[in-house]
Amino acid sequence: MSLAKRLEALNQVYQIYDDYSAALDLACEASCAHCCTANVTMTTLEACKIMDGITASGRQALSTRLKSIEEIPRFKPLLTTNRMAELCAASAKIPAEDSTDQGQDCALLDNDLCTIYDLRPFGCRCFVSRQNCGELGYADIDDFTASVNTVFLQVIEHLDAEGCSGNLLDVLLVMATNDNRRAYENGKLNCEANGLIVNWELKVLMIPPEHREKIEPILQQLRHIHL
Ligand code: SF4
Ligand code: SF4
Repeated sequence: MSLAKRLEALNQVYQIYDDYSAALDLACEASCAHCCTANVTMTTLEACKIMDGITASGRQALSTRLKSIEEIPRFKPLLTTNRMAELCAASAKIPAEDSTDQGQDCALLDNDLCTIYDLRPFGCRCFVSRQNCGELGYADIDDFTASVNTVFLQVIEHLDAEGCSGNLLDVLLVMATNDNRRAYENGKLNCEANGLIVNWELKVLMIPPEHREKIEPILQQLRHIHL
């Protein structure tokens, strides 16, 4: 599938999720940014959406800003969601991730506002909480929504199965160069050589038995994405 079609599919996936989350009773609001940390992850496809959605001068400014903070401590995932699903299905050992909160803000946060809000990746869209995280100390998310989030992460990774995933800052740094963007478009971006992890196709959905019936209408919407 061409990059343009995959970006169109990504937009539709985001829309389905945004419609789902809009119906939830959440404490989330503008300027609430406790969840905007340097630990967000995303795919290379989502980086393309961000890069394509900002002006050339905005891209240059973003690139300069990212380079100035490229040493900040941040979460670097070892496994993608689809890889983890396969390992779980095979009852294989899952390597432990270091998800220690490094206390750093997201590179794209400015005065508690996201500078790319409409373009933000799914890793941000799925930050939802029934109570204010700052007051509670953690996000209060119901189990069903956690399952929905996992499914969307799996679908988005599948859409970018020839691409890579990683920390938001790392993926943007990689995709900000013309050579890497070209290599990505030609299916030749070397994830590991660029400090990212390889995306996997979706083979096993991670949905607990108690959520399988309730989630079916959402799966139907995802299956009916038109390109
Ligand atoms: S997930 Fe938590 S920190 Fe983020 S907007 Fe919602 S309530 Fe605020
Ligand atoms: S990209 Fe935007 S929404 Fe996502 S963590 Fe950064 S500032 Fe927050």
